[in-house]
Amino acid sequence: MGSLAEALLDGAPGDVIERHALPDDYVAAHLRAEDEDIFDGGTAKDVRKSLRVGRVPMPELAPDEVLVAVMASAVNYNSVWSAMFEPVSTFRFLRHFAKQGGWAARHDLPYQVVGSDGAGVIVRVGSGVRRWQPGDHVVMSPSYVDDQEPATHADGMLGEEQRVWGFETNFGGLAEYSVVRASQLVPKPAHLTWEEAASNTLCAGTAYRMLVGDRGARMKQGDVVLIWGAAGGLGAYAVQFVKNGGGIPVGVVSSDEKAEVLRRLGCDVVVNRAEIGLTGDPSEDPDRVLEIGRRLGGIIRQRVGRDPDIVFEHVGRATFGISTFVVRRGGTVVTCGSSTGYQHVFDNRYLWMRLKRVIGSHAANLQEAWECNRLIGAGAVMPTMSAVYPLADVAEACRLVQNNRHTGKVAVLCMAPEPGLGVTDTALRAEIGEERLNPLRGLTPGPGAGARSPGKTGLA
Ligand code: NAP
Repeated sequence: MGSLAEALLDGAPGDVIERHALPDDYVAAHLRAEDEDIFDGGTAKDVRKSLRVGRVPMPELAPDEVLVAVMASAVNYNSVWSAMFEPVSTFRFLRHFAKQGGWAARHDLPYQVVGSDGAGVIVRVGSGVRRWQPGDHVVMSPSYVDDQEPATHADGMLGEEQRVWGFETNFGGLAEYSVVRASQLVPKPAHLTWEEAASNTLCAGTAYRMLVGDRGARMKQGDVVLIWGAAGGLGAYAVQFVKNGGGIPVGVVSSDEKAEVLRRLGCDVVVNRAEIGLTGDPSEDPDRVLEIGRRLGGIIRQRVGRDPDIVFEHVGRATFGISTFVVRRGGTVVTCGSSTGYQHVFDNRYLWMRLKRVIGSHAANLQEAWECNRLIGAGAVMPTMSAVYPLADVAEACRLVQNNRHTGKVAVLCMAPEPGLGVTDTALRAEIGEERLNPLRGLTPGPGAGARSPGKTGLA
């Protein structure tokens, strides 16, 4: 381990960090352009075949960027998409971005460092960075925006040049170092460990915008919110936002173990998908979609007394027809993804005749990321990390997520040598208590058990 890394782990101040030379290269999870076609014609797109861990060169820093030593990161479903080269090759994103020229051209490389979450220490700041300095502890928002584009100033997510860092850009977070724009930075919650802090930003921010943000479903006190995949990456934060905002979460999951997870998160009503006969993708059979919708609607009416005001969607093709059917007259389906397929089929009569709305949502702008982080920093929203993997085993961690064998978030240690480091507000941590801080701890198979056997869990 180089001397910069030692200084960082010793908690050296910014001026000391700045005096240390940067390494020429660093360890990173990355995809390679020569693998772009390896899954052609096949159906089992095992991400362990494409995701590599190895050394990549240190990139140059643009004036509006910072270099962060990434202590920990987390697996997001977008890295699964990247590693499957689905729905398009991730290298197409990089080639397209590079057409801007200037600093953007750096991103078009024969490799892509992936990862859209991370917590760490700022090591260098570009000449145009004003609000941050070396030594600052930060988490990184995935929303990569162009602040010279007018639309960005109405809402960062509306700019045409908005991208997701580590998905549509290079130099992502599943690595020892990452290059991000200063406009992606958020202060790290002081009571969290590196790996807890690294697990939150992308999924919590996305769920926050979908439910609470001005451009999302704008949940009110008392609203009934149906949450698909409620023990997953997005879902476990959605449950917490609904509870915090005085709503009534109805969580759908696929197993009794996940149902127990939801109870730990305080979810009022839990539905096992088996109860409603939802396995696979029923969307090709309209009668089956209505039958499942009626069963689900009946359960919700029976247990809560009304139809859902909001449906929290990201599953896509397999559930979208059910979501638009089951949401109440005048209610809102808010969607940010399509894990089971993006060509949705739904019966539009139930949408227009019952005056329902569908809202598309994507990530979170910087203001939303800060508002969401404030709730996490105050101990009102808990991390949903359930296992911690070393960077060397990141492909196994991604495989778990690809196979839906995880719960909440799977964290990855990058530069931090062990879990449990990075806490600077021990008083708040003690006040909240370890049990409350990690409600999903140990619920995902850990390194060694990985994608193979379900026995061993990731945290003690
Ligand atoms: P995740 O952790 O894998 O959770 C997804 C959940 O979906 C699973 O827990 C699973 O729950 C449920 N699910 C899977 N197949 C299903 C089916 N056939 N029917 C019903 N439920 C099913 O993933 P995530 O991090 O929450 O992300 C979910 C999706 O949102 C991904 O496609 C991701 O790319 C997207 N996303 C988009 C944004 C954005 O900004 N646009 C941000 C984050 C994520 P059960 O098996 O327990 O039912």
